Amino acid sequence: MLGSGSAGNATLLQDGDQRVLIDVGLSYREVVRRLESIGVPAATVGAVVITHAHGDHTRGAGLFSRRHEVPVYATLKTRAIWKGADVARWGDLQCDATTKICGFRFVTFEVSHDAAAETVAFCIESSNGDIGFATDLGVVTETLRTKFRSCRLIVMESNHARDLLQVGPYSQRMKARIAGERGHLSNEELALFVGKHLGRSVECLVLAHLSRVNNTPELAAMTCREALDVAGRSDVRVLVAHQDCVAESVELGLVFHGNPADMHIQRQQALPF
Ligand SMILES: [Zn+2]
Ligand SMILES: [Zn+2]
Repeated sequence: MLGSGSAGNATLLQDGDQRVLIDVGLSYREVVRRLESIGVPAATVGAVVITHAHGDHTRGAGLFSRRHEVPVYATLKTRAIWKGADVARWGDLQCDATTKICGFRFVTFEVSHDAAAETVAFCIESSNGDIGFATDLGVVTETLRTKFRSCRLIVMESNHARDLLQVGPYSQRMKARIAGERGHLSNEELALFVGKHLGRSVECLVLAHLSRVNNTPELAAMTCREALDVAGRSDVRVLVAHQDCVAESVELGLVFHGNPADMHIQRQQALPF
């Protein structure tokens, strides 16, 4: 992930020479700088996909689209309330549908969040397995549990520690909004999902959209790790995405089929998070 949190979100998805950005909520300049820091020229990105119309997900998207003449995939509801959206061209994105974008298949579904229009999450089908992607969600629904069951990699929100939010500096109204069903997912809610509903195929979890005020990377990782350990899932890797810098890449390149004795390595896919 190039950046993750309420000050701006952007994630690069890469398979061979196919590249997609999910959200461009950092400034155009900053997202280009972060791409270059991992050796990716911005001109090689083929499309932008938008989860919802909050500024921390859209800030640099219009300029990125115009400068590089790439389509922006967003639902009609998101386009309707995205103030000042000025993009090179639109790509069609619909809930409960599958959209082919630069070699990936985006299975799009709605999640509960307080954007004025809908907020979407994805199960992204790639040549090296499925990726679950859900930042900005108030609750984990049965739909999400089902869609994420067969994923190899899951990127999911771990926004705040419940206790830290309650004793923190925000107003009561703001606290209720964040903790509510249309707010943001807590470490504890993520742990509940991880402990009870994680599919056997999941190899790596990336914790995203951490609050800088009501959470710490260590606390988020520890809460998730504990739930995994209790569930007997010491095989799952946990990574934490950052606000101010590019997070460690996750590679899904090594896929072993059938008998480990005749394992072979598939085409490499890298996700520079
Ligand atoms: Zn957000
Ligand atoms: Zn949001």
